[in-house]
Order: sequence, then structure tokens, then C-alpha cells
Amino acid sequence: MFSSSGLAVGLASYWLGASTALELRETSIERLSLYQSNLLGELDKYRYLPFVLSGNEDVKDLLTTFSNDTFFANKVSRYLAETNNKAEANVLYIMDKQGNTLASSNWQEDTSFVGYNYSFRPYFQDAIEGREGRFFAIGTISDIPGFFMSHPVYENNSIIGATVVKVNLTPLQQQWNDGGENVLITDDNGIIFLASKKEWLYKSLREISDVQLQKLKRIKQYGDSTFEILSTDKTGIAGDIATEVDGKKYLETIQSIENTNWKIHYLVSIGSITENQRKIVAIGIGVMITLLVLALFIRERRQKVISTRRALEAEKMEDINQQLEIEIEERRRTEKELRAAQDGLVQAGKLAALGQMSAAIAYEINQPIAAIQNNVLNCGSFLKEDKDCDLDQSLTEISSLTEKMGVITGQLKNFARKSSLKIKPTDIGKAINKASHLVQPVFKTQGINVLINVAAEKMLIAGDETRLEQVFVNLYRNAIDAMQGMNGVKVVHVEASIIGDRVNVIVSDTGTGFEDHVLSKLYDPFFTTKSNNESLGLGLSITYGIIKDLKGEIHASNNSDGGASFVLSFPRYIEK
Ligand code: ADP
Repeated sequence: MFSSSGLAVGLASYWLGASTALELRETSIERLSLYQSNLLGELDKYRYLPFVLSGNEDVKDLLTTFSNDTFFANKVSRYLAETNNKAEANVLYIMDKQGNTLASSNWQEDTSFVGYNYSFRPYFQDAIEGREGRFFAIGTISDIPGFFMSHPVYENNSIIGATVVKVNLTPLQQQWNDGGENVLITDDNGIIFLASKKEWLYKSLREISDVQLQKLKRIKQYGDSTFEILSTDKTGIAGDIATEVDGKKYLETIQSIENTNWKIHYLVSIGSITENQRKIVAIGIGVMITLLVLALFIRERRQKVISTRRALEAEKMEDINQQLEIEIEERRRTEKELRAAQDGLVQAGKLAALGQMSAAIAYEINQPIAAIQNNVLNCGSFLKEDKDCDLDQSLTEISSLTEKMGVITGQLKNFARKSSLKIKPTDIGKAINKASHLVQPVFKTQGINVLINVAAEKMLIAGDETRLEQVFVNLYRNAIDAMQGMNGVKVVHVEASIIGDRVNVIVSDTGTGFEDHVLSKLYDPFFTTKSNNESLGLGLSITYGIIKDLKGEIHASNNSDGGASFVLSFPRYIEK
């Protein structure tokens, strides 16, 4: 964030600097034009004076007939002084063909030009050669810098002398200085001959060749000046170039002055630019510091909030963990209790089933007992009559009947035994058959046909044999009850098959089927529609619990042609 705001501050300060520089540049150009026209206006004011003077008859007479007449010369000088008073030029004077000053507006002053020869001045040369002269120089007598303008004086088409006006430009310099402006004018040598700052005067912006120096000396243009170089180093600033003069930086704008070989320079201090930039940087730094402090404050606040929140969350988490541990413990205990209860229920269910089946079982056992009794009686007779063969047969029959009873009681013992869940690969077909053997006596007494359709291959599930037997005993028993007292064919049909990775069993009967309200409560413990004392309403809830323990499903429905069906489905156990 800070580097980008730093960049923004930098860009802003650069942009502001650049726009300030641009503004200054535009203002400079305007000022330059103004100063240039000031200067030109000042010079123009006197431009026609030499021309006007050159046509004056007295001037011509002075240059011809009265060139040695001091009285006449003074008359002309007086005239020049009067004219100068009106015109407010610096000096007006008349030179003869040799460059001698014959009359001058300052003839009565100490610095009078009269008697002096100025033939060395270029403006004199120009006039004598028929041109208008224009020349800036420091006065050799007055030491006052001025601009000289000359004009030839003609008599019968020949040049007899020159009229000259010297314009003092010092007031102009003073004006610039008073206005606090930095203005300077350089000649074709780069010499500063007009400047708002005195210390810049007669310094040169560049090296002057010896030839030029000699010429300057000869024409005495700038007196005894040595033309020290004013160093003007250039440096880049805010997309512009700064000129460094005397250790100060300026934005320098230069224009050529029309009809001359001069250049006017306008220098504006770039303090305003750097000041602007400094202000912006200061503001920027201020903003950055504020942002930094703000960001630190926000960060600290946020960290405080975060750490408080984290502490609260940690506390909460600890609470939740404790709560969870309590709940887990609770669930474990409940599960244990439930399992014990379920085991109890299973046991109760088994005993209930045994109770219900007891009559049929008793009948089943009574039969062989009676047969044994019969055979025992027969054995006695056969012994007496030495019928060894018959005796042998009777004893074999007794033995087989005893064995049959043993099987029945063994199955009952097994079934009634209290056992807890033991999951191992179990063949569901075996459980189906074993259960039907157990219930066989009841099927028989009730005249029920049991059709078991089980695949020849093993149908393994992760199960518990005894529990599975119980499932099928319960389903058979319910089927028996549902078909009790019904006319027609009584059939219990059991079909088991492997479908994909599942083992499915359908147990259907031809009994009463379910009434609608029964279906929704089928697996509720203690739900029964039976009025006899043995029906506890536990059979299906126990069945449901066992099937769920074995990761299986049970679904009851009415058959379309009457009777009920239970569809059981278990995940198939695949031996590795
Ligand atoms: P109980 O046999 O002691 O009533 P169950 O839980 O075994 O308890 O059965 C609950 C009820 O479900 C039965 O009372 C009976 O109404 C109904 N039921 C179970 N199996 C059958 C079936 N094969 N045909 C019709 N109704 C059935």
C-alpha cells in the first residue's frame, strides 16, 4: 500500500512540477514578448530622430560652411539640447565625415561629446557608408551604456556627416529590476549588455575568440570589460530544463529580438516548482504517515479482534469438545444398554417364538415318544418269542426315533441359547433351511406348503447364523399366523438369489396381507394386531434390528394376488 502511495506522491509531485513548469514557460513567453516590445518601443521612439536631424539645414550648414565656426556649432548644440529635452533621449549629436563631434545636446556638460572623434564606432561607419547605424555600447566618456542610432547627412547626394541619437537603456534595466524580474539581453557574441541584475552585466554566456576580443576593444563597445563567463549549467527538472546561474536554478526562456542579432532572456526562479513539489512531497509524506498510522491502528485492532475471537472460539471449541465427549460417552452407554436390551429382546422374541411353537414341538416330540413306547413294548414280545430279527428292527427304529428327537431338541436348544452378535461369512441359504426345519412341525400341523428356492451355490453375507435363523423363524411364524384359519392353499415361498453385489431373499405367503395402517408401524416394538397372549409385537422389530446390524434392508408389501411379502437384501460377502 505504501509503496503505491509513495509512487502516487512521486507521480503527483512530478505532474504538479511539470504542470507548474509548463505554466511558467507559458508566462515566460508572454513576459518576454512584453519586454521585447518595451525595448523595441523605447528604441522606436527615437528611431526617426537622426533622420529628422539629418534634414535640418543648420545641421547641414554646420557640416559644410560652418564646420569651424564654434558660434554656429553652439547654436546647433543648443537646438539639439532643446530637441533632446522634448524627445527625452540621452544625447543627440552631429559628426562630420571624419567622425568628429561638432555639436551635441550635452555640449554644456562635463561629459560633452563635442570635440571627440567616434569614427571607431560601427554606427559611424554605417552612416558614412549610407546606412542607418544601430549599435549598443558603453559610452567612452560618460560610461553610460546606450543604444546608438545614426543616419547619414546628405548634401547634393554626397554624405557630409552623420546625425546620432544615444538612447539610455539604464531606466529599462531599472524597471526590470524593480519588478523583481530576471531579464537580460545578449548580443551576437553572447555578451550580456542589458540585465536586470547588475552583476550579470558584460559577462558572456560563451567563450569569446581572440579576434572578437580585439574587435570589441577596437570599437570600445563595452569599455574595459573582460567578459567573464557566466556559467549557465543545464539540469533536467519536472520534464523541463533548468538553467543554473550563480547556484540558483531558473527556467530560462529566450527569444530573438526582431531586426537585431540580439537575444532577450527571461529567467524565472524554479523555486516555485520545487516549492510545489516539496509541498506535494510533504503532503504526500504526511498522507503516507497518516495512512501508515491508520493501517497500523487498524491492523492492531483487527489482530486484537481476531485474537479475542480466537480465544472465544477456542473456549467454545473446548466447550463443544467436552460436550461431544460427554455425548459420545452417553451414546456409548446408550448403545451398550440398547445392545443389552436388544439381546434381551432377541431372547424374549426367541422364547416367545418357542412358546408359540411349543404345542407343535410337543406334538412333534410326542410322536416319536409314542412310537418308542410302542417299539419298547414290541421289543419285550420279540424277546420272549426269540424273534431276534424283529427285535433288531424295533431297536433300530427306537434308535432312529431317539435320534430324530435329539435333532429337534438340539435345534431348539441352539435357538433358545442366549447369544450375542458374531459376524462371520454366513451362507444365508443354510439359515433359511435351518429355520424352516425348526418351524417344520408347525408348518406341518397347519397344513402349510413350504417352497424353498435357494441357489445351489453358497450365498455368503457378513452375518451371524443364529440371528439369521431367528429372522427367518420370525418371518415364517408371522406367515403361519397370517394364514391361520384361512381356506385354500397355504404356501410359504422362500426365494434367495445373488444379484450383483447383493444377496436378496423374498419370503412371501398367501395369508391375510397387511392392512394399510399396519405397514407404517410394522417394525415398532410391541406393535401387534394379534390378541393371543404369546404375541408380544416384538418379532419384526427384532428382525429389523438384526437386519440393520448386518447392514441389510427389509421391505414389506402386499402381494397383488393376496398375502404378504418381505424382501430382504444384504451386501454380498465376497471371499478373497
Ligand atoms: P407379533 O407377531 O407378535 O404380532 P410381529 O412384530 O412379529 O409381532 O408382527 C407385528 C404385526 O405385523 C403382526 O401383529 C401382524 O399384524 C403383522 N404381520 C407380520 N407379518 C405378517 C404377515 N406375514 N402377514 C400379515 N401380517 C403380518
